Amino acid sequence: MNKAIEIKRAEKTIGNSLEAKVTIFADKERLSLLQSYKDLLPALFIVSQSGTGDYTDAPEDAYRDEEVDGLAVVVEHAGGKKCLRCWNWSTTVGEFADAQEVCQRCYHVLSRIKKPAITYFIISLIVLILDQATKLIIVRYIHPYESIQILPFFRIVSVRNPGAAFGMFQGLGPLFFIIISFIAIGIISFMIIKGKGRGSG
Ligand SMILES: [Zn+2]
Repeated sequence: MNKAIEIKRAEKTIGNSLEAKVTIFADKERLSLLQSYKDLLPALFIVSQSGTGDYTDAPEDAYRDEEVDGLAVVVEHAGGKKCLRCWNWSTTVGEFADAQEVCQRCYHVLSRIKKPAITYFIISLIVLILDQATKLIIVRYIHPYESIQILPFFRIVSVRNPGAAFGMFQGLGPLFFIIISFIAIGIISFMIIKGKGRGSG
């Protein structure tokens, strides 16, 4: 297999092995084995595409190893375009309007990475709305230090929080929010940079 790819590289039909499509023509026994590992063949030979066929259908100019009977290999340039993420050649590159330069497999990997970020955003939004809504209800309808019995063992007592973060940084005033904002920006930037690195690698 590697010998067949090397020949095509020397002929400049392909630049590197990922530009290749290999078709293996084999006798009945080997063919059924090859077909059961069909999906693993491209990764095994480090090529972009692969195919199998019956040995009797092998073209005249197919590569044949003198030591192995009943096996022929055709190496040609892979179809489609090169995926900019994984460098595999695929006919699916360009099919996705929002990610023109990647193949189908990479597109699914990328959309899997993207999804949780949106989920977290929605969860945060719901929590924020609930938090603000309950606070608004309490401020509107319950007087300070008023106690409401909801269940025999559960009661709500209204207390006002006079400062930022439950009084921990009382007196710092606007400085507290400036410091917290910078810390938050730092953490978010770090997570974005880290996430990007993982996405492309
Ligand atoms: Zn790809």
